[in-house]
Amino acid sequence: MTNQNMETSWNFDNSYACLPESFFTHLKPTPVRSPKLIIFNEPLATALELNVHSLKSDEGTSVFAGNRIPEGASPIAQAYAGHQFGHFTMLGDGRALLLGEQLTTKGERFDIQLKGSGRTPYSRGGDGRAALGPMLREYIISEAMHALGIPTTRSLAVITTGETIIRETELPGAILTRVSSSHIRVGTFQYVANWCTIEELRILADYTINRHYPDIAADENRYLSFLKEVIKRQAALIAKWQLVGFIHGVMNTDNMTISGETIDYGPCAFMDTYDPATVFSSIDRKGRYAYGNQPYIGGWNLARFAESLLPLLHKDEEQAVQIAQEAISDYSDQYRSNWLSGMRAKLGIFNEEEQDEALIESLLSIMQKYHADYTNTFRALTFDKPEDTVLNGTSEFTQWYNQWKERLKRQEESADSTHQLMRNNNPAVIPRNHRVEEALEAAVKKEDYSVMNRLLHVLSNPYAYSQEQAEYCTLPAPSGIPYRTYCGT
Ligand code: AMP
Ligand code: MG
Repeated sequence: MTNQNMETSWNFDNSYACLPESFFTHLKPTPVRSPKLIIFNEPLATALELNVHSLKSDEGTSVFAGNRIPEGASPIAQAYAGHQFGHFTMLGDGRALLLGEQLTTKGERFDIQLKGSGRTPYSRGGDGRAALGPMLREYIISEAMHALGIPTTRSLAVITTGETIIRETELPGAILTRVSSSHIRVGTFQYVANWCTIEELRILADYTINRHYPDIAADENRYLSFLKEVIKRQAALIAKWQLVGFIHGVMNTDNMTISGETIDYGPCAFMDTYDPATVFSSIDRKGRYAYGNQPYIGGWNLARFAESLLPLLHKDEEQAVQIAQEAISDYSDQYRSNWLSGMRAKLGIFNEEEQDEALIESLLSIMQKYHADYTNTFRALTFDKPEDTVLNGTSEFTQWYNQWKERLKRQEESADSTHQLMRNNNPAVIPRNHRVEEALEAAVKKEDYSVMNRLLHVLSNPYAYSQEQAEYCTLPAPSGIPYRTYCGT
């Protein structure tokens, strides 16, 4: 059943709210004092077939604030669990509410979620609220990821609430409207597998298959196909992260989606200097979620997902475990092959040779040794300007560079197509930490959103190599203090 609201063209369907009651809690957002629209994503609103004009008015602001429930919405807080830094715990939407699913005339379905909308039964000790800085950070980085071609949740709007929230200091409160193909997580399956019945687990799995993997619905063992498909999407996703130097920062199982979209932009950040041990998150003291560890953690999380599916994979537990293990064992090869083909493209290589892997690894180890900037090294190679990298002049790099040039000769494609392939795979700009911080500081401290809007503009087409992007490629001034990020609480 759908409900079309002519004014704002919300067209909500609430299929998740029709699942067993133990999966969620019906709840309204807690109203806020004086909401103000800070940023609104018009192209996304248009893609969602929403009425841009009315959403930019007070009516839209009150919806994004949770002060007005649009017609047809049926707000719920979703229950989920998760392994947080390896420890299993009950979680759930502690400060978010799913308003409903927006259906487009193309038959697409998008979750519309308010993040920072007040306390829920899953809030534990939290206040259910979010601060402006972290919500704008999520807006900037998630939209940058989308523009980079990486599957991700999106950001439709941020409003300020007119209320302050208490963290280490008092901060302006905000609500982000997040859009995703669903908010079903590995942790959602873990919750149902642990605290609900097998029948309910089957209901969740069938629902998720129909929503995200309809092509396998008729497979003989559709739950095994489901597991394999999720593995495939995560292997592709995490390879994409590695290829652009994205560090998620908090790869807990509740922050891994079943759809294969990146979710949860708390402590994430892009790496400048290439180093697999790079960690930005203040709470990741042991480097569990370091850049170089992400592919491994992806596999670990998928093993937890497979465990939650065991009762559906086979009625005999031992056989179920064996089936799950076989599927999981494919993950690392799949990841590696996604990563390798991405790296070949970054180096302008079209055909495959066995030595490519060694060529790639050798460049990375030289970059690590000489503290080269990840993005700018590939940018310099794209324009064949080795003199623009700190590697230039070192004997290792000279040797590598000659090998690479020889390698490019062993393919039929022209120099022009090689250059084009590299341009399409090496972003000119990424959301560099100092640029993101600069934009957030102007927004939060001075209510000046122009810095953020300019940044969003250059990030919206990261492969353009336009003139206006040039200044966004410069590195931060050297600093003795390592960059730190914090969970968006
Ligand atoms: P995250 O670190 O964002 O993945 O959040 C982990 C869990 O903590 C989720 O269940 C969140 O909903 C919950 N949470 C985070 N911040 C708050 C908050 N301010 N109030 C209530 N719950 C929160
Ligand atoms: Mg989370």
